[in-house]
Amino acid sequence: MNLILMGAPGAGKGTQAEKIAAQYQIPAVSTGEILRGAISAGTELGKTAKSYMDAGQLVPDDIVIGIVKEHLGSDACRNGFILDGFPRSIPQAQALEDLGVKIDVVLSIEVDDSIIVERMSGRRVCPSCGASYHTAYIPPKTADICDKCGTGLIIRKDDKPETVLNRLHTYHAQTEPLKAFYAERGLLRTVVGQEKVEDTTALVFAALQTERT
Ligand code: AMP
Repeated sequence: MNLILMGAPGAGKGTQAEKIAAQYQIPAVSTGEILRGAISAGTELGKTAKSYMDAGQLVPDDIVIGIVKEHLGSDACRNGFILDGFPRSIPQAQALEDLGVKIDVVLSIEVDDSIIVERMSGRRVCPSCGASYHTAYIPPKTADICDKCGTGLIIRKDDKPETVLNRLHTYHAQTEPLKAFYAERGLLRTVVGQEKVEDTTALVFAALQTERT
């Protein structure tokens, strides 16, 4: 299954991508995660991406398209993949089509802006392995420590309130039009994000099941 996961920042794409990856045994390719990795590693790519990300803006299309092209061409994606956070604009979606990448389903997780703002304030991430937590909804077993690798958790710089508002604005202006783009192609499925992760996962799996039968 070749899947695109859409949703506003904080809608729970990353968390659901992990669940789908485990269930369907396909890798999740997160452009945000790859870019954050490049920033930590101090590469040229990371240096270029950082200013856009810190401002809550999209990293230029040619950069992210290059990243996705490289990953989708890898062996790991041979049996399917989950694109988490790509495409984020019509030109990116067009580029994916031009590359001849076949998409089976586009799943959009819908969450109100007011809930997103509240959620983002509790979000914590592991700077080492990328696992994500929430102080109220997905707390780590020990406060502020990653369950998976024991590293101290941090607040992502772009989860700061003023950046969150910019990211939401960017989402509505540039990414949301993709829903119509994929609806026209008969690929769009939507689920309403629930308070509990497992409730959203149940809806996500039901939506994917419908697609496969
Ligand atoms: P995410 O972790 O998916 O919320 O992404 C974090 C940030 O990385 C975004 O706010 C953008 O600045 C950048 N980013 C991730 N994916 C893309 C993309 N497909 N196009 C442009 N920028 C992206």
